[in-house]
Formats: sequence, structure tokens, C-alpha cells
Amino acid sequence: MNCPSCKTNSLRPKKLEYSLPAMACFKCRGCQIDLLNYRVWREGKVTGNEELSEPIQDVIDTKHAVLCAKCKSIMMKYKMKEGVDNRLDLCGSCGEVWLDGGEWKLLEQLNFSKLVPEILSTPWQSSIKKKEISNNIEQNYIDEIGAEDVEKIKKLRAWLSEHPKSAFVKNMLFREDSF
Ligand SMILES: [Zn+2]
Ligand SMILES: [Zn+2]
Repeated sequence: MNCPSCKTNSLRPKKLEYSLPAMACFKCRGCQIDLLNYRVWREGKVTGNEELSEPIQDVIDTKHAVLCAKCKSIMMKYKMKEGVDNRLDLCGSCGEVWLDGGEWKLLEQLNFSKLVPEILSTPWQSSIKKKEISNNIEQNYIDEIGAEDVEKIKKLRAWLSEHPKSAFVKNMLFREDSF
């Protein structure tokens, strides 16, 4: 089984955590895990000392499509969070997940290491898309009028939406004449 990311190195068994087996590439530090094993680990029946074998280093993100080390199917990429470039790769046919070097630590830092199946779900992915769209809209406004004014407008909008006479206030705001 060759590494799906750097392709030259062969994968070797490794424990990602105590009781969480993985097939790891010792060159790029990526590893592939089976979601079934992952769920068993997450249930947490087996406890022990968590292995801190991998010091936190630079996190890699393979940009090219990754082929599952087990069945050679193309793996699908799933974002973890808005604003984070790293994506998880999932093999739809055998339920294996590829983690690039450092991505497991990144998941831990984001408090997501126990949420891998959730990250791979449609609701999670569409919520990231929604947040990214809204961040883009805000960024466009910031580019146009500056962050300070955007903040003022956000406060004004929040105040207006809670105002008992918001329609009246809006009319007042947009009156052409100076009363
Ligand atoms: Zn590799
Ligand atoms: Zn596969």
C-alpha cells in the first residue's frame, strides 16, 4: 500500500492514538484510518495512555486528488471549518479517511478530533458554505468602505432589528429632506 499523497513511500501500521490504528507514511506524516476503527476508538471502551508520538509540526494539505490507499478510488475532499484550508479526504467506497501530516493534531486543536463523521456530513459541509458566503459578503463591504464603517452598520442593523418601531425608523433614516 503506497502513500496516496507522496506516492513513493509505502504505508506502515501506526497507532494514531492508543487504540486507534492507522496506516501511516513516515515520509509525509500522512495517514489513513478506517472509520469503523475510528468509531470504536471514539466510543472510548479501551482506555490507556494517549500516545503523543507525533510532535506538532507544520500542517500539510495535499491539494491534488488523493486515491484511497486500500481500493484506489478517488477520495472526496471535505472542509473542516470556514477559513481553514485543510480538508479531509474520504473514500466513499470503503469508508477510509486520509489525514495529511499534522492534520490529526489540527483536528485536536480545533476540538474536532471526535467529530470526524460529523465533519463528513452534509449539514456540516453546508454550514461551512453558508458561513463562507456570509464572510465573503462582509469582506466585499469591508473592501468598499472599510472595517470600521462595516462594524458601525452592523451595530445599527442589530439595533434596528430589535427596535419596536423599526419600519418607522427606517423611513426616518431614508427621508430625502432634512427635517
Ligand atoms: Zn507520504
Ligand atoms: Zn477505498
